[in-house]
Amino acid sequence: MPTRFVIRTFGCQMNEHDSERLAGLLVADGMEPGQGVDDADLVVFNTCCIRENADNRLYGELGRLKELAQRRPELTIAVGGCLAQKDRELVRERAPHVDVVFGTHNLADVPRLLRRRAAEGPITEVPDGPAPGSPPLHIGALRELPYAAWVTIQTGCDNSCAFCIVPQVRGPEVSRPPEEVLAEVRSLARRGVVEVTLLGQNVNSYGRDLTRRSPLFADLLRQVGAVEGVERVRFTSPHPKDLRPETVAAMAETPAVCEQLHLPLQSGSDRILRAMRRGYTAQRYLERLAAARAAVADLAVTTDIIVGFPGETEDDFEATLEVVAEAGYDSAYTFIFSPRPGTRAAAMVDQFVPAEVVHERFERLRAVVERSALARHQARVGRTEQVLVEGPSRKDPSMLSGRTRQGKLAHFTPPDHGSPAPGSFADVVVTGAAPHHLRADLVQVAAAARHRPRIPLRAR
Ligand code: SF4
Repeated sequence: MPTRFVIRTFGCQMNEHDSERLAGLLVADGMEPGQGVDDADLVVFNTCCIRENADNRLYGELGRLKELAQRRPELTIAVGGCLAQKDRELVRERAPHVDVVFGTHNLADVPRLLRRRAAEGPITEVPDGPAPGSPPLHIGALRELPYAAWVTIQTGCDNSCAFCIVPQVRGPEVSRPPEEVLAEVRSLARRGVVEVTLLGQNVNSYGRDLTRRSPLFADLLRQVGAVEGVERVRFTSPHPKDLRPETVAAMAETPAVCEQLHLPLQSGSDRILRAMRRGYTAQRYLERLAAARAAVADLAVTTDIIVGFPGETEDDFEATLEVVAEAGYDSAYTFIFSPRPGTRAAAMVDQFVPAEVVHERFERLRAVVERSALARHQARVGRTEQVLVEGPSRKDPSMLSGRTRQGKLAHFTPPDHGSPAPGSFADVVVTGAAPHHLRADLVQVAAAARHRPRIPLRAR
């Protein structure tokens, strides 16, 4: 049996958190985290299948490990997560040196699979749904940060966006009971966690499978925000079609809920939104965004946009640029359409947009987004912001980094003596802006975190 492990994670925050859970399970099983591949006898890949380049990265890394696996027969390689769930047989076909293939539903079984691998040889076990009696989602997570934590509130997705493979891979929506979520949040708060991010594929439909009473997500936000010790609550991702006034009201009226909303647009063209099966028009999207901005003062808004969805014309793309200009995003994750086998969009081959056109549009969109982000950041210069300190800046270790309530990365000069510890709060005054971060001067280290003042709901 392996004794030291490393986990390589591709994909979204859901996958990052799954890796924390897996690390916790491996530690509970007697293993230790290693520093890197050379220091480990188990390498686990937690994969993503949303975009083609995640596949390419996985097989590239597996290819590089092939020679190492030949030199070190004790090295065990395991592949799990979304790509393994989707392509269970293909993984071993393309990389026969993989020892264990597991899916998204049997993470908790990995220690048992490793034992079977040691006794019986390579194994693939990818169930199509959660096994009855599966351990609770949060048991034993080995979290990366002691002061901030992801909390899964829901897995799977009931939507059918034409470009997305998630519903086929992760299955239908399954919500964790609110009392279980709250118990986890309380336990985290007791251990010093001050910021929680609630995770789900479509958090706005949280609880639909538990009860007909709604809106359960709004209730959950208020309850999580009321947990003693929790100073900041974030969530991702809400679907625009399900963003209810009650959720916006809960954001506005719960002091711990941060002024940050990730609202995936995907396209600004109604024709493309219909083809994508997103369930809203550009106008509806903008109305919901306006209502959220009216209710929550100083709201930072981020989004996801796909460029080059099959059939996208220049007019469609221009419509996207118009919505981007009107929405005034603080940042946007922009993606080039990548056909995922098994999705409706992948079958629209005759409508694929030529690569050179897509790349040209992508660059134009990126320029517009960067301008918007820079303008939003410049508007913050001169303001005092509260940051949750993360530690030395990755780019310049002589500076400290922290996140504002709006989720913005701020780099600031530490004091001459007694730098604030990671996980503490500090007030900084913003002195400069770039599209992806703020520059700031430290004003004071906060004795205790402070919520923003309660802001009355102005519009719903
Ligand atoms: S809402 Fe759409 S894009 Fe998001 S996970 Fe579900 S199907 Fe995929």
